[in-house]
Amino acid sequence: MLQAPEKFQMFIANRFEPGLSGEQVPVLNPSTGAVFAQIPRGNAADIDRAVRAARAAFDGEGCAQGPWGRTTATERGRLLMKLSEAVLRDQELLALLEARDCGKPLKQARADALALARYFEFYAGAADKLHGQTLPYQNGFTVMTIREPHGVTGHIIPWNYPMQIFGRSVGASLAVGNACVVKPAEDACLSLLHVARLAAEVGLPPGALNIVTGLGSEAGQALSDHPGIDHISFTGSPETGRRVSQSAAAHYCPVTLELGGKSPQLVFADADLDAAVPVLVNAIIQNAGQTCSAGSRVLVEASLHERLLERLAAQFERLRAGPAEQDLDLGPLVNRKQQQRVWDFLSDAQGSGIGFAAQGSVIETAPEAGFYQAPVLLDNVPAEHRLAQEEIFGPVLAVTRFRDEQEALRIANGTDYGLVAGVWTREGARQFRLARQLRAGQVFINNYGAGGGVELPFGGTGKSGHGREKGFEALYGFTQLKTVALRHD
Ligand code: NAD
Repeated sequence: MLQAPEKFQMFIANRFEPGLSGEQVPVLNPSTGAVFAQIPRGNAADIDRAVRAARAAFDGEGCAQGPWGRTTATERGRLLMKLSEAVLRDQELLALLEARDCGKPLKQARADALALARYFEFYAGAADKLHGQTLPYQNGFTVMTIREPHGVTGHIIPWNYPMQIFGRSVGASLAVGNACVVKPAEDACLSLLHVARLAAEVGLPPGALNIVTGLGSEAGQALSDHPGIDHISFTGSPETGRRVSQSAAAHYCPVTLELGGKSPQLVFADADLDAAVPVLVNAIIQNAGQTCSAGSRVLVEASLHERLLERLAAQFERLRAGPAEQDLDLGPLVNRKQQQRVWDFLSDAQGSGIGFAAQGSVIETAPEAGFYQAPVLLDNVPAEHRLAQEEIFGPVLAVTRFRDEQEALRIANGTDYGLVAGVWTREGARQFRLARQLRAGQVFINNYGAGGGVELPFGGTGKSGHGREKGFEALYGFTQLKTVALRHD
């Protein structure tokens, strides 16, 4: 018997609510293509209610601060620590929700839940360690700087890593005392609604965290337009990021943008291939290539090309995609649109005569209506081709040859993006030269972290966006600096 889709609710001021319009958005399981849940189709009025709840938590009435605005840094740290523990307790439930919602293999979903707990833990510890300075000035003055929260921050979260991106942005923002309004992606928000339940359970006051579900063009747009939002953190496509920036600019609202990339991995003839090959493969198949920091281009020194390609091809041929619960190398892509996008790029490759050097497979028992795509290794992709220039966001790795270090650098830096880069070489001076010259927010030498750990600042340049999240650095973005000059002579 078919089960009716489960109905989820949005979260405003610590209460789950259906949304003012009463309309729903269906939620599909990417592994089967079937609707299994419904979320409220939040609109501008729901966003307004959430912003008001957040403002009440932060500002309170009149000149008094609200219950969240009054918390000390230490109290916020303790609450985040409790939230981290609650996430660890419910890790399996969160992983199952995420696997069903986004199509992630279970091991990836479990790792994402662990990362979420780790973000809360990291920012719990950091909450009361963000200091201002005292500055030398004229005689008779003491001058200090104070880091203060913006007030109410908006968070627009994509579907590829809902828990991780929520952790890095909402975790840091709450730690410094902002109240948050979150608009998760319509394709993936169920795990975050459970985290909201946990936040209320551990004692976050009403309004400190609010989640409005719905479509980007409605709820997301309303969030970027709302004059009650003091800072926006956006992760997603460059096109939507630009739209969010334009809307925010209309009310002078600062924006942090993380917009993906076309991250290169440079492999020189002296590289340790045993170490490099599994990392190169994982960097593109993790989350079925739907990772902003995916290592989607391999640039290889000409003399190594044949040997590296053979090793990569052998690994690609063994990769298998299938339903999330089967925990194979890859799950499905998130939705039909994403699958079509990858198909378009691949047919472009065929039309341009770019060879499929190897392909993995989709297991035979995978449901036909799921959004599967076998991983593909493309060889000799010209550096100017759109396959080497544009973000595919699927399990497609483009290999391009270079003659020498200068050409490698020119190709690596030759896209509009600049998020992450990897370098594989044993030569010390070259490691340093490239670390300095590569246009990227993160450079990994003889490893590749796809964004790295919770502790490492992350963000890009150019079309990859601006601002930094993760690590201690994120706390600066979620605060503003006040200078106080005190005259006492
Ligand atoms: P998107 O940028 O449209 O969606 C990201 C988030 O923005 C979602 O929460 C969405 O609801 C919201 N949104 C959409 N329109 C909005 C608007 N007008 N105002 C405010 N918020 C809005 O991305 P997409 O269409 O889901 O995916 C398209 C491509 O974007 C992908 O193929 C991929 O290349 C890229 N992408 C990048 C990342 C990343 O991590 N950098 C994540 C997701 C998608």
